[in-house]
Amino acid sequence: MIPSIIAIDGPAASGKTTIALKIADKLEYMFFDTGVMYRAVAFAVLDNGINIEDEEACTKLSETIRIDVLPPSKEDGRTNDVSVDGKDCTWEIRNSAVSQNVSQVSTYLGVREALTKQQRRIGLQGKVIMVGRDIGTVVLPDADLKIYLDASAEERTKRRVLEREARGELVDYNETLRNIIRRDKIDSERKISPLRAADDAIIVDSDNKTIDEVVKEIMNLIYGNK
Ligand code: C5P
Repeated sequence: MIPSIIAIDGPAASGKTTIALKIADKLEYMFFDTGVMYRAVAFAVLDNGINIEDEEACTKLSETIRIDVLPPSKEDGRTNDVSVDGKDCTWEIRNSAVSQNVSQVSTYLGVREALTKQQRRIGLQGKVIMVGRDIGTVVLPDADLKIYLDASAEERTKRRVLEREARGELVDYNETLRNIIRRDKIDSERKISPLRAADDAIIVDSDNKTIDEVVKEIMNLIYGNK
């Protein structure tokens, strides 16, 4: 029996989405990126002019907004359609204001509780690959297979810059690197559900490997081949 619930965690821009999408496609599983939910909350916080440091207001907002993550309606490179209260924000959640503020809202207990509940419900349906920071440790601790995908900050920055340039954006390498390091620090040092590999996760290092090599390595783990 191949694993039905697969958790992939790892730091920012470690390739989780690219890799998980390919594996989901091969297995005909659902792909679910939990990061878009935290990004949607950060987007709504900024859009409503709420102070990102105001934990109570951010939490209240996360409990009241409706976040929808649906299959992509357009072929413009999106992996999903993401909307908040019916308003499409698929690309807005990727902008630098959201990227710079998302880790702060993700430290709030109430925000995490609101989102974790929804993620768990989706994950427990099975035949799913869920990616994030705390999937193997908190959201789906009984996942059948847990992968922790890692790569150096420099390698991850290079990939993120190329990805955004391919979308026609002007990107600064040093600013991207600083943002990635800052996010990793907040994500791994926060008290609630910090970024870390679950004790039973398999660590896959993707430095100096192509996407296809990493996919093959994980497919071998899925089929139980060494
Ligand atoms: O994966 P992505 O980089 O889009 O995630 C954006 C942010 O959302 C992360 O830096 C982290 O602060 C937060 N996040 C989280 N837990 C998850 C997924 C994302 O705290 N499961």
